[in-house]
Amino acid sequence: AEESMIQSEKLSVIGELSAGIIHEIRNPLTSIKGFLQLMQTSEKLNKDYLEIIMREIEQIEKITTELLYFTKPKSDRFTKINLTTIAQESVRLFETQTLKRNIKMCLEADNADDGHCLYGDKTQLKQVFVNLIKNALEATPKGGTISILLSSTANTEEISIQDTGSGIPEPLIHNLGRSFFTTKATGTGLGLMVTYTIVKNHNGSVHVQSEENKGTTFQLSFPKWKQQDD
Ligand code: ADP
Ligand code: MG
Repeated sequence: AEESMIQSEKLSVIGELSAGIIHEIRNPLTSIKGFLQLMQTSEKLNKDYLEIIMREIEQIEKITTELLYFTKPKSDRFTKINLTTIAQESVRLFETQTLKRNIKMCLEADNADDGHCLYGDKTQLKQVFVNLIKNALEATPKGGTISILLSSTANTEEISIQDTGSGIPEPLIHNLGRSFFTTKATGTGLGLMVTYTIVKNHNGSVHVQSEENKGTTFQLSFPKWKQQDD
């Protein structure tokens, strides 16, 4: 019975999601079709229309990329993961962007005997770092700072990602992690939903602290890797 409940829980999440995805992909498709039809009747290429079409295609591309994760099987790929390594790899991905916008990004890890390990899926955990760093970068103006801190307690591994960006208005905080919630012109509103799902799959938790015009901190907590996990 428990198995089938988990199964139906999964199905309802997929159902709710796919209704939203269909909607979010259908809108740009309708607009692409409309502008192509306009060009067809005028029989001339219109640079402005082409630009809109390109933008709409990029939006569909973004949505499908963010959702790729949901098509992959997970728990069978759980291994011992070193968070320090994943954090370093993720930070490196944003090097040119931070340089270009003069944003200081620093990664610090306290001295843990085991180097901050947990039992999980490497691709998914990297996705968590990438999604949170990307949001921090998008919220942070030139000259700002993003600090990533890894630490551990007796039973948990803690990750904090702190930015000096725009912050999140208090009445919007409860929307974080809802699919398609975005305040950005070309956002997908899928990054945090995917992130929260991954964290949940790893028995972790997310805590958000934010102050408008000061910045935001995402604090993640995961169970520490134990010998018997392997
Ligand atoms: P997207 O980035 O496509 O908008 P996300 O799910 O990644 O979708 O984020 C949802 C919303 O949460 C963002 O549009 C933004 O309003 C808010 N948000 C997330 N992270 C931050 C942050 N570090 N600083 C300010 N706002 C944030
Ligand atoms: Mg995002």
